Amino acid sequence: MAAPIYVVLLGKQGAGKGTQSELLCARHGLVHLSTGDILRAAVRAGSDLGHEVSRVLEAGELVSDDLVNRLVEERLAAPDAAAGAVFDGYPRTRGQAEALDAILAPEAIGVCVLVELPDGLVVERLSARRVCEGCGTTYTATDPSAVSGVCERCGGRVVQRADDTPEAIGARLAAYDRDTRPLIDFYDARRLLATVDGDRPVAEVQASIEAALAARGLA
Ligand code: AMP
Repeated sequence: MAAPIYVVLLGKQGAGKGTQSELLCARHGLVHLSTGDILRAAVRAGSDLGHEVSRVLEAGELVSDDLVNRLVEERLAAPDAAAGAVFDGYPRTRGQAEALDAILAPEAIGVCVLVELPDGLVVERLSARRVCEGCGTTYTATDPSAVSGVCERCGGRVVQRADDTPEAIGARLAAYDRDTRPLIDFYDARRLLATVDGDRPVAEVQASIEAALAARGLA
């Protein structure tokens, strides 16, 4: 069997990491490992984990490294992750990046793609973002599914995320600058970084990401 492929997607909230992760996973048979999705599912399910993290999520702060590292390790151990994964929203701190190296072996990460977007556009995109509670599909406020509140894919409820409010968006951008931005240098120093402009149509961003994978022999 071919060696697993591990791709880290870095970038601010709203840069399009979730959409691009889905496209990458569909094309390469990888698992979309979004720690945000795992945490939100726990909050919706009302599990112990959900109760533990719900306030942190709503405030736009980060949950502890130990907790997310454990979630990632568990998810990677599942059989469907054998071909590899796209990490979306993880790692978010230096501690998490080091933990990921320990979980996978440092040479396992094939590429880290930074999807760039200016802060002004982040606020605009997140304020207009609507998400299906059932399947996670993302819409903009003017899409028919967002207007009707019913997902055209699965019939689930389409809502605004509790942390897509102006206060939480501010806190999340601050957390990105403080904790996550240093990871750009962390991966660049290892020559794993590829930067793409996220302010373009989805298909163009996707083509740039595929080119970054191909350049490293991953496609
Ligand atoms: P996201 O969907 O990636 O924007 O994540 C939503 C929220 O989940 C974040 O604002 C954090 O509260 C929490 N979260 C997700 N991933 C992580 C992570 N890797 N480390 C800490 N907190 C996280």
